[in-house]
Formats: sequence, C-alpha cells, structure tokens
Amino acid sequence: MKVSRYNHRIAHDGRLLLFNAYRRGLHDVGESVYSALDQLEAGAENWDSELSDSTRATLVEAGYVIEDDVDEHTTLLAERESLRLSTEVIGLTIAPTIDCNFGCPYCFEGAEKPQERMSEQTMSAVVNFARGLITESTRGLSITWFGGEPLLGMSQIEQLTHRFRSAIVEPMGLHYAASIVTNGYGLTRKIATRLRDLGVVRTQITLDGTAEYHNQRRFRIGGHPTFDRIVENIVESCDVLRISVRVNVDEENRESFVPLVKYLQDELGLKGKVSVYPAMLRQ
Ligand code: SF4
Repeated sequence: MKVSRYNHRIAHDGRLLLFNAYRRGLHDVGESVYSALDQLEAGAENWDSELSDSTRATLVEAGYVIEDDVDEHTTLLAERESLRLSTEVIGLTIAPTIDCNFGCPYCFEGAEKPQERMSEQTMSAVVNFARGLITESTRGLSITWFGGEPLLGMSQIEQLTHRFRSAIVEPMGLHYAASIVTNGYGLTRKIATRLRDLGVVRTQITLDGTAEYHNQRRFRIGGHPTFDRIVENIVESCDVLRISVRVNVDEENRESFVPLVKYLQDELGLKGKVSVYPAMLRQ
C-alpha cells in the first residue's frame, strides 16, 4: 500500500482533517491517522497497527491509501481525456463579445479589448460547427457563455440560443443546458430571469475579497467601484439562477476570504443559497 499523492492535511478549529483532492473525500481523522500515514510513507509494514478495522477500511475506500501499482496521475489524465473526447454531451464555451465594462489590471485579455459583438456570419458558423460535432451517442448540448463580459452580448446570447434550440436541440431531441461566467455587474433580476428563460442554470461571479480589496482590482473602466452593485445583484438573483461566487485569493487579499464568506452567508443571509469558493491565484 502507499499514500495518495492527492492527500491534504488540514488543521482546523482544533480538528485534524484529511482531504483527498482526487476522490474529493473529507474526513475528520485525528492524530492516529496522520501518524499512520507518516509511517506508511516511511515504508513501515505495520503502519496500520494502531488503527481500527473500520478506520483502515475508510482510508482505503476513500482513496487516502492505495495499492502500490495504482498510478493516480495517469488514471486522472486518462479520465480527463475520455471526458474531453466523449460526444455524449457536446460542451462549447462561447464569447459573444470580448468587450468588457471592467478594467481589472490583471485581465489576461488585455486592457484594449475590441468592442465588437459576434457577427451574424460567425453565429451561423458556430451553430454549424456545433451541429457537426453531434454523433449518434450525443444526448445533450452544454454551452458556457464567457467573455470579456458576456452580458454585454445579451442579444447574441439570445440569438444563438434560439438557433441552437431550433436547429439542433429540438429536431434532434437533445437536452440543453447553459452556464455563464460573468463579472455580475449587469446581472439584475430582470437579466437573470431572461437568462433562465434561455436555459442558463448556473452562474459564476467573481469577487476579489471584501469591498476594500475587490474595489481596488475589479473596478469599472474609469475606476468606479463595483462591489456593492454585484452583491446586490447576487442577493436579487439567487433564487432565479444557481450562483457560485468564485473568490480570487492571493497573498494580498487572502485575509479577506473568511470575512467575505461571513458577510455573504451570515449578514446577507445567503447561506445555502449561494456557494462561495476560493480560487488560488499564483504568479
Ligand atoms: S471582468 Fe473579466 S474580462 Fe472584464 S476586465 Fe475583469 S478579468 Fe477581464
């Protein structure tokens, strides 16, 4: 047996937790398990002698401890490749525009974004491209709207959705679902309702920490702060769309993650309504 390379030890509130990022299990384990895993890593044969049978079984079932001949990394890459090549659900990420109303200094798409919206010709080409990916085993079409800021291309989102539905989804009897990655500034309840009618079920909105940090980095072109309006939109739209808040976390703003979660979940009452997760930014 050997220890999974995807194990993470987390000491939290006096508890010793074990998380496996491959199998996505999280267990409250205690010192005896940490010590047993240390012994296994050091090559001890009787590494589990202090563990109960049920604890040992849990470690194996949840993938914290694996057989010697298992290569998790290769298995993971093979699984990812098989998902990527699967035609059961055709997934496309589409930018109806690269234009954006924000001026985030770290934007990988640069400061000078073209302001065009997707042309009629390109929309037709996208629908034809999607149609060409469909095989006999295809059951669904999944679209992710991306940008720039995709809400600046609402008209293109509407037109493309209608075309996908009438040219592909309905005649071929497929399931259709969409998601959107947005900065959240334009996501009013009215827009959220329009998106829901266009098959959008999931929404990802990015915050860069509490207002103090967020407004220094995710401001409108010209510098206008955006935090309050985005949060107001989240509150207004969270019963219309399933919203996840991605919080960019780095050395500069990491202290603000927990206060932000408390603000959203406790002060604004969003606990159970909106998911919030950190995204580590690395240079
Ligand atoms: S909101 Fe997104 S696309 Fe717009 S400037 Fe910021 S990082 Fe770039």
